[in-house]
Amino acid sequence: MAALRPPRLDAAADEVARTAALAPDWAALATVARSCVACPELASTRQHVVVGDVPATGRPRLVIVGEAPGATEDETGRPFVGKSGALLDQLLGEAGLDRAECAVLNIVKCRPPANRTPKTPEVARCSGWLRRQLELLDAGTVLALGLSSAKWFLGPKTVLGQVRGRPHEVDGRSVWVTYHPSAAIRFGPNGAPRAALAADLAAIAGTP
Ligand code: SF4
Repeated sequence: MAALRPPRLDAAADEVARTAALAPDWAALATVARSCVACPELASTRQHVVVGDVPATGRPRLVIVGEAPGATEDETGRPFVGKSGALLDQLLGEAGLDRAECAVLNIVKCRPPANRTPKTPEVARCSGWLRRQLELLDAGTVLALGLSSAKWFLGPKTVLGQVRGRPHEVDGRSVWVTYHPSAAIRFGPNGAPRAALAADLAAIAGTP
């Protein structure tokens, strides 16, 4: 069984991890995470810390983990509500999965300026929140969307095309990785990323 391999680099990452580990439940974690300033640049440019969505039951059928909030998510404080979110909702529905049954998170909770890729220290600092979220949700099945998220779960040498399409056991969880909806949009409705994303969602939906 593989273990999670997100980077841990500095004192701020350790402080976030310590704080997150003390959160007894989702509401407590969300409250303290919303005031996090561990990443100075992101904390000074964000509008919201996008903590994530969870089903009312608190026990998701599937935990979806993307990269970071975009502009719409930063404005609203909710994950995957822009164009990528609309496509994700559509493809979830076509696969027979209901977003309302899913938790939707990101590996980094604050929007990077101009939607740049999160930097390694930012991923490391925000990892404490995500680790505790996965524990609190008792996540059995996880879907990592995009390469940054795939690397968080499977390690820095991950090649998406080589590991998608099947589950990987990581820390007792079944982890699937696939293309981010933004890649599916970029390559168009007949592009390979959209077909792969749809196929992977269908495979997850068919897995007991
Ligand atoms: S990205 Fe994560 S660790 Fe960095 S300031 Fe935002 S909530 Fe804190």
